[in-house]
Amino acid sequence: MQNILIVGSGLAGISIIDQLIQRGVRVAMISDLSAPSSTKVATGMFNPIVFRRLNKTWMIDEVLSSMNAFYKSLEKKIGATLKTELRLFKHISSNDYLEFWNKRADESEFDEYLIPVKKSFGEVKKAGWVDCSALCTNYHSYLIQLGILRNEKFDFAQLASIKDGIKYRDEYFDAIVFCEGPYAIDNPYFKWLPFKVAKGDWVVIETEKDLKLKGVINNIVNVIPLGNNRYKLSSTFEWESSSWAPNKNATKKLLEAFEELFSESYAIVDHQSGLRPSASDRRPYLGPHPRHPKIYIFNGLGSKGVILAPYFSNHLAEHLLEKKPLMPEVDINRHIKRYREYARMSEISS
Ligand SMILES: Cc1cc2nc3c(=O)[nH]c(=O)nc-3n(C[C@H](O)[C@H](O)[C@H](O)COP(=O)(O)OP(=O)(O)OC[C@H]3O[C@@H](n4cnc5c(N)ncnc54)[C@H](O)[C@@H]3O)c2cc1C
Repeated sequence: MQNILIVGSGLAGISIIDQLIQRGVRVAMISDLSAPSSTKVATGMFNPIVFRRLNKTWMIDEVLSSMNAFYKSLEKKIGATLKTELRLFKHISSNDYLEFWNKRADESEFDEYLIPVKKSFGEVKKAGWVDCSALCTNYHSYLIQLGILRNEKFDFAQLASIKDGIKYRDEYFDAIVFCEGPYAIDNPYFKWLPFKVAKGDWVVIETEKDLKLKGVINNIVNVIPLGNNRYKLSSTFEWESSSWAPNKNATKKLLEAFEELFSESYAIVDHQSGLRPSASDRRPYLGPHPRHPKIYIFNGLGSKGVILAPYFSNHLAEHLLEKKPLMPEVDINRHIKRYREYARMSEISS
């Protein structure tokens, strides 16, 4: 039987450890639960359509069914509701976009995802959200009860590659999988990968009157009804920042997008932010380190963690346990030239 160590307990860590537990693998997880994490602040929306070009979200036809099955099985395990389907309405701001939307809605392959425009709004089918905060709280408790999760910082100085596995402190494992989200930019084994961390902010406002929304409204940002006249405005994208702290300038952008559609008065009641672990080519990072075959990474979920984590954790589990080949689009081997250059430079400077 295999024995695998996972580092990180966000969407990536939770999904891969769950896949391994389901297959009867012995697992342990190390995660610093006090550190900010992308998953803890994620809005958790899933949307099968990319609004800018009105394309389908990458691999949506393949990933949707594994997403549905995965969250259903987690809900059973932890006894909490995680996934909710929502109506999602896109504000149509120009005639060109309206024509484009209706043309797409007519195409047979978009049939199951798009409804033609009515009264300046196009509707997306099969959208919704996953309560990522509840997922973290409940799944972490479940792992702690099983004695699997250790709340501590991983110490790289204690890790060694050995024949047929790894050693961490005085324990032996067949493999280790790093699921550190945005912190991977400091991982000595994987920092050569081209990460493109994207900061995101969201605010919650409380309006004086009920906006009577039938679902989520997207006007650049999402206006998500939370009940009791509260609405989450989510979220911004900022590429130059690596700070987890809320950014006051982001509030302005979020509120401007809201005020374009609504004139009701409101007060801000919450403001949070986080970093998305994005890859330069917007595809996840999966696979073993080029020189340490038992040291793996599962990362690069970017702004689509909710949709991608279930499918690709299964993909990685099949690779780890059954040696199934990884899809070239997600295999970190696609950056092997970059790794060789990094290794060459490291040798020169050491
Ligand atoms: C504002 C915002 C809104 C978002 N909205 C959405 C959305 O609507 N839909 C969607 O699909 N995605 C959304 N995302 C993206 C989503 O959050 C990410 O895709 C996903 O959460 C990434 O999960 P992860 O496990 O890779 O990283 P994380 O959730 O950050 O997990 C990394 C974990 O590793 C631990 N860790 C790292 N290094 C160490 C170490 N050395 N020792 C111990 N522990 C360590 C951290 O403590 C953390 O628990 C959003 C992100 C942000 C910031």
